[in-house]
Amino acid sequence: MENKKIYLGSHVGMNGPEYYLGSVKEAISYGSNTFMFYTGAPQNSYRKPLSELKIEEGRKLLLESGFDEYKLVVHAPYIINGANRAREDILDLAKQLILSEVQRTAGFHAHILVLHPGSHVNLGEDVGIDALVECLDDALSKDKSDVKIALETMAGKGSEIGITFEQIAQIIEKCAYKDRLGVCLDTCHISDAGYDVHDVDGVLEEFNRIIGLDRLLVIHLNDSKNPRGAHKDRHENLGYGYVGFETIHKWATHPKLDNIPKILETPYINEKAPYKKEVAMLRNGEFINNWKEEFEN
Ligand code: FE
Ligand code: FE
Ligand code: ZN
Repeated sequence: MENKKIYLGSHVGMNGPEYYLGSVKEAISYGSNTFMFYTGAPQNSYRKPLSELKIEEGRKLLLESGFDEYKLVVHAPYIINGANRAREDILDLAKQLILSEVQRTAGFHAHILVLHPGSHVNLGEDVGIDALVECLDDALSKDKSDVKIALETMAGKGSEIGITFEQIAQIIEKCAYKDRLGVCLDTCHISDAGYDVHDVDGVLEEFNRIIGLDRLLVIHLNDSKNPRGAHKDRHENLGYGYVGFETIHKWATHPKLDNIPKILETPYINEKAPYKKEVAMLRNGEFINNWKEEFEN
């Protein structure tokens, strides 16, 4: 029972020689109807010029294949820490990188950029939040595109900010460019942060009360290797962790979330991408016992 309204995909790579064209082909090979990508390596901020990335070729294929550009998601590199007030040079770099990632997102004709709120490096969450707001305001004041930044809900590793809906709401509230901000909810992260991820309606009700459901722009569908409240952030394949297939399927198909792109960031198995299998199980609503076995040898 395929539901066309569900925008479902995974993160995909972007490597030479085909770059973006290769990303789109990869998403199609998984049976996805949306996807997320990094415009360079996730771990560093080195970025190739857009002119080398075969954007128009990729775009042609994705439009022919029925993808909606408003459902595509770009993820900013992890190393951006806009909440680090301890180092003004790092904060300045964060401002530049956020602006550049917003501009690159627009350059790919995408409209949503996921950003980790960052870590306050033991200066306290309020100091971290104010630093991040300063970065967001600085970057967004210099960009006229319609790209929205989706702040990701974090697991609470180290001194991360953005662990609670209240913190995310505070960041949005303090920003001068609220219209350009939204949220990316990660099922692994909210469970690790302490929310009861199995109570989808309860979590959505709380999200709506504190942030507003209209801010929800992306869902990351991940199982978690650790129990609720563990603050670890280790993703697991669907049905092999503490979130479980049934709950992830609920998040994937919840009617209140119909128009929101849903992205898998589950681990590779034996260097093989699991996404074709995971997308199919979510579409069919049926868990295949021991499905990982076929990847394991
Ligand atoms: Fe993320
Ligand atoms: Fe995530
Ligand atoms: Zn994560």
